[in-house]
Amino acid sequence: MAMKLQDPTLLKTQCYIAGQWQDPQANSTTPIHFAVHNPANGELLAQVTNASSHDAEQAIIAAHDALPQWSALTAKERAGHLRDWFNLIMAHKADLALLMTSEQGKPLAEAEAEIAYAASFIEWFAEEAKRIYGDIIPTNTDNKRLLTIKQPVGVVAAITPWNFPSAMLTRKAAPALAAGCTFVVKPAAETPLSALALVALAERAGIPPGVINVVVGEDSAALGEVLATHSKVRKITFTGSTRVGKILLRQAAQSVKRVSMELGGNAPVLVFEDADIEKAVAGVIASKYRNAGQTCICINRVLVHKNIKEQFIQRLVEQVNTLQIGLGTRAGVDIGPLITHQAVQRVHALVVDALADGANALTGAHTFLTDELADKDLDPNQFYPPTILDNVSLDSAVVNEEIFGPVTPLLTFSTTDEAIALANATEYGLAAYIYTSDTTKAWRISEALEYGMVGVNEVGITSEVIPFGGVKESGLGREGSKYGIDEYLETKYICMGLN
Ligand code: ADP
Repeated sequence: MAMKLQDPTLLKTQCYIAGQWQDPQANSTTPIHFAVHNPANGELLAQVTNASSHDAEQAIIAAHDALPQWSALTAKERAGHLRDWFNLIMAHKADLALLMTSEQGKPLAEAEAEIAYAASFIEWFAEEAKRIYGDIIPTNTDNKRLLTIKQPVGVVAAITPWNFPSAMLTRKAAPALAAGCTFVVKPAAETPLSALALVALAERAGIPPGVINVVVGEDSAALGEVLATHSKVRKITFTGSTRVGKILLRQAAQSVKRVSMELGGNAPVLVFEDADIEKAVAGVIASKYRNAGQTCICINRVLVHKNIKEQFIQRLVEQVNTLQIGLGTRAGVDIGPLITHQAVQRVHALVVDALADGANALTGAHTFLTDELADKDLDPNQFYPPTILDNVSLDSAVVNEEIFGPVTPLLTFSTTDEAIALANATEYGLAAYIYTSDTTKAWRISEALEYGMVGVNEVGITSEVIPFGGVKESGLGREGSKYGIDEYLETKYICMGLN
């Protein structure tokens, strides 16, 4: 195996339930293992336990059993455990990044950045644990005293995606544990190794058995159903597609669970006539082509003012044509593989459909990359070239669906009102971006955009200190920031009657 970890014991292949690394229990699925491959070249990385519904249930019971003790710790004690976990992640950053690039494909520099980002949530919520305040409410009756306390929701189940396999786990686990909840996570079957390594470090940090559990398995629908319907789970938190989010919302409704949903996006960038074009082009490249376009906040549509379109396009095409495609561990590579062959086919189908609707490709738009891939050991069917489409019809799927690949559709506008209407013409509402040098315009448009997050002259909008989340069909709830922990807390009101 090409993956050379400094600490090979971080490569875990079993479920972690009640503090035990274990294979599926007796009445389990067949086959009992599934393979994890490197998407860039098909290399077999590991055979991983294929958990069944029974294992998911065991994990929930373990979390439920661990809840009284964990929630009874002082906030300072819980914070101490989280701080130790944070330190271990940072100490093993290089191995964790290599594991991620190997199973997910993203360039190593992006994987390293994700590990630091993932760890930052643990540091942040270790600090927030100590600042969970209740209220004393000024009474409206002399013989009563009114107050609120904050208590953990209970057992939390999380389902995480493959595009940010580490950060999406810690963004949920850290506030849950900080609040005093216990946790069961089912990572995506494409990228279980990152989740397992993080949890191995949680174990080393002394987080007690049952407080954090991982169930890895291929049958995501079966495992998801257990997590979303089990009566001992009080909250389900999910990052993934709107389609699966809706399934989980329906399932969670049966027992009225708390829910957080980080779902799909269709981010527009509005490039106005007065924009700094170089900055806007750099922003489009950084946002659109990060993780090969497989991020929920990446630019999905470029809306550019008609008067600067030609100049903008010329610079954009020049810059896009310098991007290097290849193996994520190779120096200088900007774009890795897409996650699966099917993902490549789906992205190409969106491009073909747009071309049939009258668009023209300024670069890219073809599937077979063999000539461009210097390394012949790579699987060409896993890669898609950075693509720019001009004259795209507003009705094309590439404008209306989440692309999740390195494809930029260009649209033009003439007036600010038209730009806002185009930007809001979607059922999604996660992130939007504006490029303008006019501050008044930036304020007014930020307020008019039906999105949970707006970047003004900036695409690097995420960090642990900001509330990440969407409106409309992009989701429910916020992750990170001072608000993130509220998702894992109940407010209890206590009325004290006086004599
Ligand atoms: P993506 O487009 O990012 O793959 P998905 O929503 O398909 O988004 O996947 C996100 C997570 O949801 C993954 O962990 C996946 O295994 C899981 N998942 C997929 N289908 C279901 C389902 N029917 N029920 C519950 N979880 C699911």
